[in-house]
Amino acid sequence: MSAREIARADINEQERTLEIEWDDGHLSIYPLKLLRSECPCASCRTIREEGRNNPFRVIGPNERPPNFDLEDVEPVGRYGMRIHWGDGHAAGIYTFDYLREICPCEACRAARQGDQAPFVHGIYIPP
Ligand SMILES: [Zn+2]
Ligand SMILES: [Zn+2]
Repeated sequence: MSAREIARADINEQERTLEIEWDDGHLSIYPLKLLRSECPCASCRTIREEGRNNPFRVIGPNERPPNFDLEDVEPVGRYGMRIHWGDGHAAGIYTFDYLREICPCEACRAARQGDQAPFVHGIYIPP
């Protein structure tokens, strides 16, 4: 199987989305908020795990709420992209595989449910 490739990627400032057209013709539209909340870097993953274990976690004094302004997108090799957020966070490398995995369109969501219901990205989704 060949590596995933992007035919087109556009930032829609108005809608605050990132649109990716894949080489197989599939179109993914990611709200920036979704991309930030699915940031694949180690510290965001840890915060998500903690949030799962304790939904009432208090945000520490040094933690600012995440910022959903997209400052810049930097290609990483031929396999992914690094997103620079408005608050300076840029640790997450979104590989094309990962992006395709979190595609929020209905077809992808339905396919994921069929695959691994009731878990989506390790999160239990009640039926
Ligand atoms: Zn992160
Ligand atoms: Zn999709």
